[in-house]
Amino acid sequence: VPLTPLDFLRRAAQVYPAKTAVVYGALRRSYAEVYARARALAAALTDAGVARGDRVSVMLPNTPAMLEAHFGVPGCGAVLNSINTRLDAATVAFILEHAESKVLIVDRGFSDVVRAAFAAGTARPRVVWVDDEAAQSVEPVGELEYEDFLATGDAERPFVMPQDEWDDLALNYTSGTTGNPKGVVYHHRGGHMNALGNALTFGLGPRSVYLWTLPMFHCNGWTYPWAVTAVGGTHVCLRQVDPAAIFRLIAEEKVTHLCGAPVVLTMLIHAPDTAKRSFEHGPVSVATGGAAPPSAVIDQMERLGFAVTHLYGMTECYGPASVCAWQDEWADLDLAERAVMMARQGVAMVTMSEQTVLDPATGLPVPADGVTMGELALRGNTVMKGYLKNPVATEEALRDGWLHTGDLAVLHPDGYVEIKDRSKDIIISGGENIASLEVEEMLYRHPHVMEAAVVARPDAKWGETPCAFVTLKPGSESAVTEADILAYCRANMAHYKVPRTVIFGPLPKTSTGKIQKFMLRDQAKAL
Ligand code: ATP
Ligand code: MG
Repeated sequence: VPLTPLDFLRRAAQVYPAKTAVVYGALRRSYAEVYARARALAAALTDAGVARGDRVSVMLPNTPAMLEAHFGVPGCGAVLNSINTRLDAATVAFILEHAESKVLIVDRGFSDVVRAAFAAGTARPRVVWVDDEAAQSVEPVGELEYEDFLATGDAERPFVMPQDEWDDLALNYTSGTTGNPKGVVYHHRGGHMNALGNALTFGLGPRSVYLWTLPMFHCNGWTYPWAVTAVGGTHVCLRQVDPAAIFRLIAEEKVTHLCGAPVVLTMLIHAPDTAKRSFEHGPVSVATGGAAPPSAVIDQMERLGFAVTHLYGMTECYGPASVCAWQDEWADLDLAERAVMMARQGVAMVTMSEQTVLDPATGLPVPADGVTMGELALRGNTVMKGYLKNPVATEEALRDGWLHTGDLAVLHPDGYVEIKDRSKDIIISGGENIASLEVEEMLYRHPHVMEAAVVARPDAKWGETPCAFVTLKPGSESAVTEADILAYCRANMAHYKVPRTVIFGPLPKTSTGKIQKFMLRDQAKAL
């Protein structure tokens, strides 16, 4: 029997038919209901002419329709393509064309960008509009409505199962942090294994309540809709990331698990006291990753009552690839020291067989000395099939059986891998390598700094020098100057690593909350 995440919903509906599968505002649906709706969606897609292997795009916020799409789309044999809901029209047009989507299921709230994308490009998928069930009803405009579309589908018809577990399951585009997004193809087996690996790593079970804080069109989306369903837990949807809503839902719905990019955690930490709520139902497990979480952020989250786990991952491996596993010895450390240990990266996820750090010159593993840098490489069950229609990039990423990540790391004697930087972000000053993450880690410890990013600035004498972009905490603007920040760095780190320039202001971010250093590099170059 081919492994597929489609089995999870069938099984949850069988074992827990009446259990709440999804909560969204006042709306609650049981597993029996979600299964029926997902089957109706699959049947409606098949009847609309969607064939095995066709691509169906969705552009949805974290609403119940997104959960249904994770089963209904692959359930008709199609490949699920979730589009980032914050993209501009030109990029949406690019993805719809590149993916050759047959159908687009889209939230009515994004109608402007979708219409602009159609005007800008040649893609013309059939559009199914979703009206937000909790938001105010929008005037229908006489086009195909999601609920009407669902009503055409036979809710009893079984899913179209994959013929082979290596069949395409999903197509997801990378964040575009370093340039154009690339279309990553997943197989059913990987989707299944990734869900089980995460359920094990985070201790998900039927009592788990998972809050959908991160956008489901991203790494979170190819993990948790399937993982939480696999164990019969409850999904709590959240349309927009808002610290007050997050604290309220944690307390009211007794949330046990959530994920957040480091910027989301920063938002929770710096939320006004009126937005913060205490919760007594136990520490809430927070998985964070996607970018390096500064140890100061982990430390402050733990003080708020969260239990933080640090993950490293990338789109190319279904999200999480390695995790910082809790070590009993850390119980004796104080919170700040423990946070430093956790900010180091981790060991490979159970589903990822191996991770190693390769010397780019020889292709051999670097010594496990905690100092020698090389490229992180991974292999295992949750590595992508390749990039869609991009054999050159695929061959570069998948070589000799390993996924080459483009991230620089060191190997510690205890087997831990520590990410140092993206190869593109490393700063080479006077022949010395400076990891931008290390300088940022120091800046985040400054009491007035809220966010920081460090990039290379071209320099006639040194080749490159570090240039810091800093956002201060609200109210700190008049309290610190560039000289204060520089003096702080000089007192705390090797002088060649100290930024030469500090620029204050907001930082450019991707819609998944990653700081876009390529934009800052351009800015630094122009200084
Ligand atoms: P693109 O590939 O389109 O430029 P991207 O690499 O940001 O964008 P993602 O797949 O979303 O797209 O992100 C994966 C990358 O994020 C990793 O390669 C790594 O550089 C970074 N990253 C993820 N987790 C961590 C972490 N825990 N610490 C440091 N960096 C991380
Ligand atoms: Mg990448």
